Amino acid sequence: MTYKIDFERNRVKIQGIKKKFRVLGLHQIPENAEITNAYLIKKPTGYYLYVVCYLWKEEALKGIEEKQFSIPVGIDLGVKDQVSLTTGEKIRWYIPETKRLKRLQRTLARRKKGSKNYLKAKSLIQKEWEYVKNRREDVKNKVMSYLKRFSFIAFQDDSIKGWHEGLFGKQVQNTGIGGITARLRRLATLIPVEFVDRYEPTTQTCSKCGFRYKLELSQRIFECPRCGLRIDRDLNSAWNILKLGLEQLAQKNKALAYRLMSALPVDRGEVKPVEREASAPCFVPGVSSLVEAGSPSLQ
Ligand SMILES: [Zn+2]
Repeated sequence: MTYKIDFERNRVKIQGIKKKFRVLGLHQIPENAEITNAYLIKKPTGYYLYVVCYLWKEEALKGIEEKQFSIPVGIDLGVKDQVSLTTGEKIRWYIPETKRLKRLQRTLARRKKGSKNYLKAKSLIQKEWEYVKNRREDVKNKVMSYLKRFSFIAFQDDSIKGWHEGLFGKQVQNTGIGGITARLRRLATLIPVEFVDRYEPTTQTCSKCGFRYKLELSQRIFECPRCGLRIDRDLNSAWNILKLGLEQLAQKNKALAYRLMSALPVDRGEVKPVEREASAPCFVPGVSSLVEAGSPSLQ
């Protein structure tokens, strides 16, 4: 709780420790931040100081204002394409365990447990793990800083749970998409964010006319038998998520929701809560027999 930071000399004084620490990366602390707490953490690669600080909202959004998009965005989270946006953009990443990590793990297996060489190999593995984790975090940071530019975000909550166990376990792990929803939630302190219920059948519903049919997992294109819409499966889902998100928002802040809707492309003019209620009553959660509880990702 008691510490002193010397920004000029890159030194930090921490209560209870006589010597000053020489630190790297003090520039990461924003200028007008109010530091509330700091933790000294030991990681395989060394000691780290985690600094928690408060920033005024305006300050936190600084620098992204000029790049700000006026449009709202719906986000579909997936295994194949991790992030699909209503803008048609897809963000994919895959950061597997490194070859070095696998090699080190084999080495460790050959060492005698508890021996000096064993401990050495173990420490190298931990360091390598940290490196892989850092790379995954880095991608997520970059994705977040891009998403931060939209005027509104809608995503489907908890859609990643269940993937971890099932078919996609390894793949989910390797992309580290897991932390994404938590981060999206945190974005809500900066920009309006709505989470759509995980049981909403966003994959199986036509984002144009509301018609529903069960899509096979292998079907990458949603083809609506009623209105003829042909659209990428994840993109269709992202549009449904955006619609639902905007409806939720409309219940809290009608003016904002309508302003955001008017910023959408003209061919998406049908995104209006009133119409959806009239044309697609089957949206009501719990009513549909198509929704398989517990496996929303397999819709
Ligand atoms: Zn349709």
